[in-house]
Amino acid sequence: MPSKAAPFPTAQSTSPYWRNDVKPIDAHRSTKCLPSRADIVIIGAGYAGASIAHHLIERYDEKALPSIVILEAREACSGASGRNGGHLKPDPFSRAASVLKTYGKDVAEHVASFEARQVKEVRDLVDLEGIDCDFEEVTVRDVCLYPAGRDKIEADLTALTEADISTAKELEYHSNMDAEDVSGVKGAKSCVTFNAARLWPYQLVSHVLEKAVSHGINLQTHTPVTSVKHAQGATVTSIWAVNTPRGSIECSTVIYATNAYTSALVPELKDKIVPVRGMVARLVPTDDAPRLTDSYMMRFSDYEYDYMITRPDGSIIVGGAKRDFYEDLNQWYDVSDDSRLMMGAERYFNGYMQRHFAGWEDCDVRTDQVWTGIMGYSNDGFPYVGPVCGKPGQYVCAGFTGHGMPQIFLSAKAIATMVTTGASAVEVDLPLPYHTSPARWSLQRVHASLQQWQAFSDGKATRARL
Ligand SMILES: Cc1cc2nc3c(=O)[nH]c(=O)nc-3n(C[C@H](O)[C@H](O)[C@H](O)COP(=O)(O)OP(=O)(O)OC[C@H]3O[C@@H](n4cnc5c(N)ncnc54)[C@H](O)[C@@H]3O)c2cc1C
Repeated sequence: MPSKAAPFPTAQSTSPYWRNDVKPIDAHRSTKCLPSRADIVIIGAGYAGASIAHHLIERYDEKALPSIVILEAREACSGASGRNGGHLKPDPFSRAASVLKTYGKDVAEHVASFEARQVKEVRDLVDLEGIDCDFEEVTVRDVCLYPAGRDKIEADLTALTEADISTAKELEYHSNMDAEDVSGVKGAKSCVTFNAARLWPYQLVSHVLEKAVSHGINLQTHTPVTSVKHAQGATVTSIWAVNTPRGSIECSTVIYATNAYTSALVPELKDKIVPVRGMVARLVPTDDAPRLTDSYMMRFSDYEYDYMITRPDGSIIVGGAKRDFYEDLNQWYDVSDDSRLMMGAERYFNGYMQRHFAGWEDCDVRTDQVWTGIMGYSNDGFPYVGPVCGKPGQYVCAGFTGHGMPQIFLSAKAIATMVTTGASAVEVDLPLPYHTSPARWSLQRVHASLQQWQAFSDGKATRARL
């Protein structure tokens, strides 16, 4: 595959429903000019950047807070966090089962419980701060519609139960006819139910950024970082020069909360964190349609799945739609442009509820808004959270692989702890597969998404020859 240009956020983007009404923080600049120095520079004002700022504030007395600047290329929360599915859905079985095989029971438990705990962590934050973001805990119905997928889920659950992994005890499993009854999804082969949450991510992140600004953190939107280099005449407090078209900031600590775009500034992560374009829609049923109370995951094949929440106003947010664009790698893999929809995929959402949900066949559902967003897919499926290898004072918190809502808040806490105490990754609450160890940093492997796509393509070719 030809090498693409470094992934910087594009100037234009499609409009996500979540950002129809933006807050004053959206275009905030705390000071007219950039400060020439800061203790800590956080790059990126999405869920990760905001959460890192939050946890840094938590770790200091107000008067002792170091000088912190957040630099954001576009508007606040205009990346993946402002255009996702609003689904805070921990994965209680598939990742844990694969980790169980490679790392053993303790790491599998940590991976599974790290995600599960984030529902409560975010709920506590929302309650404590009184954040108006429609946060609601829900039961998720994780539905599998193909037999091989169901068999794998059954095998995963058996392995996790035998290993006594906590999340496997907190879910219910249904198969075949029972699965159709429990989920209401036509053709369901299995349905796993467990606790998750839905929310309005833009409202959450904006609130956290507003609070950070009120604590004296300097937020600068519309300020793309073009490079991070050794400062001239570097000292202990000014090791790095963070360069932007509006000037440079010298600092001792740089934190990349840049997710899909990280390799533009940290080229070592090229091929390790790759921008992947995803698609989401808002559907509006008429008042006489059935009302869904739960959230959903719909697994159609190993590569094709949708996720879905219901909003308090009855509208439905659905993400996925890979059926109509997955085959064409150029539409989604290594794509950092969220200003366009995938060609032809928009129609996927028309008739979606009627196709899949029993009792919806005669309902009227309007596709109200469709948008794209850029996810940071890591080569092995786990985020990179920790020190940047070989660059003292630099940290990364990125690569959430389309699954950041149940991973970011506590990853950000781990980063804030490392930055403020000098603790290493093994000394903080951070699952081993997330670590930026030299071994993982230098390991060259074919990206997991490319491997899966190649298998899909090969299978298709085989089928075509039959
Ligand atoms: C379409 C879509 C649907 C999704 N659905 C879900 C879901 O339902 N559930 C779930 O768990 N996850 C979902 N995700 C993934 C989730 O949104 C992400 O994992 C999460 O938002 C990542 O947060 P972040 O802060 O790391 O990245 P982002 O929100 O992308 O923030 C990174 C920020 O860094 C800025 N930036 C990048 N480079 C620079 C630079 N050079 N200079 C300055 N600023 C820079 C960007 O502009 C951006 O604002 C979805 C993602 C997409 C795109």
